[in-house]
Amino acid sequence: NLLNEVNVIKGQIIKALSGFYYVKYNDEIYQCRARGNFRKKGINPLVGDFVTFQIENETDGYILSIEERTSYMVRPPVANIERVIIVMSAKEPEFSLNLLDKFLVKVESYHIEPVILVTKRDLLSASECSEIEHHLAYYTSIGYETYFVSNLNAQSYDTLVKGITVLAGQSGVGKSSFINSLIPDANLNTGVISNALNRGKHTTRHVELIPLQNGYIADTPGFSSLDLDNIEKVTLKNMFPEFIAIADGCKFRECLHINEPKCAVKSAVEAGEILQTRYDHYLQMMREIESRKVRY
Ligand code: GDP
Ligand code: ZN
Repeated sequence: NLLNEVNVIKGQIIKALSGFYYVKYNDEIYQCRARGNFRKKGINPLVGDFVTFQIENETDGYILSIEERTSYMVRPPVANIERVIIVMSAKEPEFSLNLLDKFLVKVESYHIEPVILVTKRDLLSASECSEIEHHLAYYTSIGYETYFVSNLNAQSYDTLVKGITVLAGQSGVGKSSFINSLIPDANLNTGVISNALNRGKHTTRHVELIPLQNGYIADTPGFSSLDLDNIEKVTLKNMFPEFIAIADGCKFRECLHINEPKCAVKSAVEAGEILQTRYDHYLQMMREIESRKVRY
């Protein structure tokens, strides 16, 4: 009827907790349940989803449908993620190109934009800093946004926090500290957010988006493991942007850049245009995928 139609509006889920979805519309938040027909179809609303919902009263509603997602992750269960910030510390724990490349591949496999953030700059000498900067310059050259910061300073990134951001990285690299450094009035929010990021595993299903600057940051970090289970040998090469850029030069269209003759990628590695460690990590990941095939 007419009254119902008037009360059907579009919003975004910003929190999921105990079977309820909290949908934001303008500046109001409605506590919604999903209609039963979702579960029958095997579709579960996710935090980040844009949904149409029917308002029941001033505080409650029903989710009717979910808009198509641009992306989604399983951990944390969030849809429409604009970027994953891979957080690595320059020290404590030690900076690792191997770990960085694994994270990059994992984020690429979800078709989400990775951003590289190296923290704890303040703990490094000038020469140690320039070593990190040297590495980051390569990643910038292949198209990634990179930052090298100290979380001890207040920071602001206008472009970084539009849309939904998920942070990923080992524990102790400074994910919570990074979020706190973005908050103008740190005293007000520090406790809440650092607790949120460090919650026990049993609550990881309950995700909440923290509004920051122009966008949101998920309060749960991404990826519990860096396995390559969702990646095939033929698709791995597409997760290295600098390989894609020159793969047209390979003799074989289906070249995996391993032992094929006249491989443009191998030539570029030999010429020093592609970082040797990137190629080594690629081969290492290939072997990992290969051994998975044998196992099953
Ligand atoms: P998380 O586990 O990734 O959330 O890491 P935390 O934010 O809890 O940080 C781990 C430790 O590193 C804490 O003791 C922080 O104070 C410290 N830390 C984080 N970022 C920086 C930084 O940029 N510089 C320094 N000196 N310490 C940092
Ligand atoms: Zn090749």
